[in-house]
Amino acid sequence: MIYLDNNATTFLDNDVVICMQQLMQKTLGNPSSIHHFGQEAKNVLYHSMKEVADFFDVSVNELLFTSGATESLNTAILGLEKCPHIITSALEHSAVLLPIEAMKKRGAKVTELVPKKGFGSITLQQVQEAYCTETKLIVLMSANNETGIETEIAKIALFAEEKEVLFLVDGVALLGKERIDIPAGVTAICFSSHKIHGPMGVGLLILRKKHKISPLIYGGPQQNSRRGGTENIIAIAGFARALKCLQKYPQAPDLMRFLRDGFEKKLLELFPEIVVHGLHEKRVCNTSNIYFPDVDGETFLMQLDLAGIAVGLGSACSSGGLMPSKVLVHMGLSEKIARSSLRFSLSRFTTAEEIDQTIEIVARLLKR
Ligand code: PLP
Repeated sequence: MIYLDNNATTFLDNDVVICMQQLMQKTLGNPSSIHHFGQEAKNVLYHSMKEVADFFDVSVNELLFTSGATESLNTAILGLEKCPHIITSALEHSAVLLPIEAMKKRGAKVTELVPKKGFGSITLQQVQEAYCTETKLIVLMSANNETGIETEIAKIALFAEEKEVLFLVDGVALLGKERIDIPAGVTAICFSSHKIHGPMGVGLLILRKKHKISPLIYGGPQQNSRRGGTENIIAIAGFARALKCLQKYPQAPDLMRFLRDGFEKKLLELFPEIVVHGLHEKRVCNTSNIYFPDVDGETFLMQLDLAGIAVGLGSACSSGGLMPSKVLVHMGLSEKIARSSLRFSLSRFTTAEEIDQTIEIVARLLKR
C-alpha cells in the first residue's frame, strides 16, 4: 500500500513507538502524587514539557496539552469571556468554525473572510479592512490542510500586535513542513501530534499571557488549573519524541517538495487538462490538490484504493460524506470541480519509487 493521505494522519515514527513502549513498561504513578512513583511520573512529564517548550522556543508555562488540535482550538476560542467581534476565514477547519458559531450565539459578531483574488489565502489587507474597534480576536490557519496554501501569518501578527487584538493560529498543517517561528503578535497557536508521526489523542496549545481563558474542562489543578484531568504522560512523551524526530530529519521538507513537485510536473506533462490547485501560490511542501476533469473524485479515490494507493478527498472529517470540499468551493471553484479534486499528501517516509508507482497507476486509471 502507498499512503498519500498524510494530512489526515501519519503513521507513528518507530522512535516514537520505542519511546512510548519503554514508558508503558514502567510503573508510573500519577504525576500529582507525592510518593516516589508520582514523582517519577512528574519527572517524565516535566522532561517532555521541557523538550516541547525548547522546540517552540517558549516557556513551559505557556504550554497546554490537550486531546488534539480540536480541543486546543475550542479552548482558545470558547475560553474567552467577552468577544464582541471575531475575524476568521471560511477556509478554516471545522474545529475553528463550529466554536466560532457557538460564540455567535453568545453575541459575538463574526467576519468570515474568503480569498479575494479567487484562489489563494487571506491577506493582511483583508484583515485590516475587516478590523474594527470591537475586534477582539483573529483566528486563521498558517497553512490550509486541503490545498497546502500558506497564510501571511507574520504580517498579520504585526498588525494584531499593533491593534492589541488576540491572534489564534491553527498551526496544524505547517508543523513538520517548515520551521516554526511564533511571532510576538500570535497570542495562541495550536498543533496536533498525530499529524507529525506522533500518537493520536494529544495536542498542544501554546498560550501567551495576553490570551486569558477560562478552562473548557474543569477538574483538578493540573496544568495550572487551565485543564483539569490527569495528564496523558505517555502520549505527551510520544509527541515530544515526534518533535525531536523532526529535528533529526532537517532535510525532509526539501525532499518532500522535490517529490511533490516532480509528481505534479509529470502528471501535468501526461495530462495537460488537469489543474493543480494553488500551483503558483506559496504552499507547504507535501500537499498536492488536483482537479481531474470529468472524473468523479470519490469513485477515483476508491479505484486508487483498490490499486493500493490511499489519498484524500478534502478534509478528513468530510471524507466518507458526499459533500464537495467547502474549502475549494469557498476558493471560488464550482462544486463540480471540487467533486473532481483529490488531495495527495506526502510524508518524510514517502519514497521516489512510491511516487513513480502512483504516477503510473493514476495514468493507467485516467486513460481507462
Ligand atoms: N486543524 C487542521 C488544519 C487540521 O487539519 C486538523 C485535522 O485534520 C485539525 C485542526 C484537528 O486536529 P485533531 O485531529 O488533532 O483534533
